[in-house]
Amino acid sequence: MNLHEYQAREILAPYGLVFPPGTVAYSPQEAEAIARRLGGKVAVKAQVHLGGRGKAGGVTLADTPEQVLECAEALLGTTISGHKVRKVLLTETVAVAKEFYLGATLDRPKKGVTLMGACEGGIDIEQAARDSPDSIVRVTADPFMGLADYQALQLATGVGLRGDQARSFASISKSLLAAFLDNDCSLVEINPLALTTDGLLVGLDAKMVIDDNALFRHPILAKMRDSGEEEPLEARARQFGVNYVRLDGTIGCVVNGAGLAMATMDVIQAHGGAAANFLDFGGGIKAAEVTPALRIVLADRNVRVILFNIFGGITRCDVFAQGLVAGLAELQPTVPIVVRLVGTNEKEGRRILEEANVQLAENTSQAAEMAIRLADQFEKAAT
Ligand code: GDP
Ligand code: MN
Repeated sequence: MNLHEYQAREILAPYGLVFPPGTVAYSPQEAEAIARRLGGKVAVKAQVHLGGRGKAGGVTLADTPEQVLECAEALLGTTISGHKVRKVLLTETVAVAKEFYLGATLDRPKKGVTLMGACEGGIDIEQAARDSPDSIVRVTADPFMGLADYQALQLATGVGLRGDQARSFASISKSLLAAFLDNDCSLVEINPLALTTDGLLVGLDAKMVIDDNALFRHPILAKMRDSGEEEPLEARARQFGVNYVRLDGTIGCVVNGAGLAMATMDVIQAHGGAAANFLDFGGGIKAAEVTPALRIVLADRNVRVILFNIFGGITRCDVFAQGLVAGLAELQPTVPIVVRLVGTNEKEGRRILEEANVQLAENTSQAAEMAIRLADQFEKAAT
């Protein structure tokens, strides 16, 4: 789950990270009043889950409350790169001498949390990692031992700081890691972390991504979810307890098990197709669970075919087949359906589907080929 900048600032501030004073506004008038209180010169920042808001026109430095009013009027209610702006953050502007990047990310291969620093703020870290990997300083913290002093100083001196400023950067790095671990994050970024002309390090932006699977133990964070920013189909799937991630292909996938779902997507891609989604409705499917999953996948207008890849372990193939037949009767999809069904009670399951004229594949590879062909045919018939 992504947090907004204003929320991330709230979480990070108690750890000793310094941010310029700021408040969120929901209307232009409110923004103007807040700007007046903050002294007039403020940054007006769209609160949307979008990297690179600055480049997309979501961040403006204003000199007067009147300018803030104009700017907030222009931003609120509009859409930047597909994200509707419902609130803006007003922050006191600071005089910047230099900008840095500081981030922490879950590093699976290294089995720890890797902190990254760069002497260029406002950068796109993924791009910098590709174009000039040597410009990024990396240290990996042990999740139990934390960041050692020498590692924190390695980061600070690596980005070119010395003396008190290096010690301050090192201490901020440790705070960032503490916040990362306490809140079960997968990513925390301060980009830019600015060195002011007074020699202080302040955060001019903050990004936090929380592991969804840890939200049960963070009720305060869970309440910060902005459902207006979420893919509507994903939000609906969550209500049904279905793991669904929307993608941009045309082959809708319904699979029991996350690993099989990933493998199915790989096989589709290996055959030259593209999955419209990841969908795992877990083991032990009950007949009544098939319809909601089918409904979610069908609601995606890009879907040209639906591929069911079902392995009957705990799940019984006949129970799934009954559920699918009921779902098809209820929802009457116009897109073709392909099913690969193996495992417990396979014979009975296939018999039920054959009777209902559902196309069956012998294996995943064949199912992918059939799905790609049917999607093409459906596309041609539609145009
Ligand atoms: P992003 O584009 O979504 O990462 O938005 P940011 O919040 O990082 O803002 C974009 C850029 O605006 C930053 O990289 C800074 O260079 C600049 N910026 C933001 N706040 C201030 C400020 O208070 N003073 C100055 N001088 N620049 C700022
Ligand atoms: Mn930024």
